[in-house]
Amino acid sequence: MSNRLVFSSLLLLLVSFNVQAWGWDGHRLVCGMAQAKLSPEAVIMVDTLLAEGESLKGGQVSFSESCLWPDDVKYSNHKGTYEEHFINVPDAALTVDLLRDCAALNCIATGIQKALTYLSRPAESSREKTRRAAALRFLGHFIGDLHQPLHIGNASDWGGNKVSVQWQGKETNLHALWDYGMLESMGIKYPDSLDFLLSVKKTSDDKQMVNWINESLALGRTHAYANVQGNIITSGDSLGSDYLERNKPVLIERLVLASERLAMLLNAIAAGEQPRTFLLISR
Ligand SMILES: [Zn+2]
Repeated sequence: MSNRLVFSSLLLLLVSFNVQAWGWDGHRLVCGMAQAKLSPEAVIMVDTLLAEGESLKGGQVSFSESCLWPDDVKYSNHKGTYEEHFINVPDAALTVDLLRDCAALNCIATGIQKALTYLSRPAESSREKTRRAAALRFLGHFIGDLHQPLHIGNASDWGGNKVSVQWQGKETNLHALWDYGMLESMGIKYPDSLDFLLSVKKTSDDKQMVNWINESLALGRTHAYANVQGNIITSGDSLGSDYLERNKPVLIERLVLASERLAMLLNAIAAGEQPRTFLLISR
């Protein structure tokens, strides 16, 4: 491999890490918490699907680890799922308009719809079983992504990826700060923080996926893109402990809520319910 190729590969790796979702700890925590909230039927379903997922890259893994897989394969053998990790909206938008923001039917809402549909259908052939096992991994990951406010972000700045900021003396970007930078500063990590997060009570009866998406968009506007004075953060800004303190409760609430909703969906599917109310399109 030439030096140039090595450099390109390193650059690609760095870019990959920049745009990863939640970071490894965030995704593992969401799925680890959800696992603790599963019904006995859903525990059996998830275990069966994890075993059937052995043929997928990474082999048979725990549910927490399986939720990292979609970030890995979006650059390799599931390139078509890349857009399913987020929705980009116009800068001034206060609500998501799926006809405008997901016109190609290729965004986080359709990714979740697809995963839910495959999960709630019986799988007979080995191809269908592998697809269903992959759907579990995608669902666990995408429900996590949906709750990270900057996954429903501005198209112009790629959900904060293009907003470079100074954080504790280092340069990073707003998206990375919400994926893992602030969680690291808070000492939130997998599996050490599972017990603490499981003790946080945050529930919601809202079963409309589009409302969950709009919650993230609103939090992006009020908390992620805005500094403590309420001004929009722009590249070159320095963010510090006041920003962190303001956003700590939001980060914890979003992780817990993601786990509640993921467990609710998996429990419904294991109980034989076609989760129509959670879908955008159903018959
Ligand atoms: Zn993702």
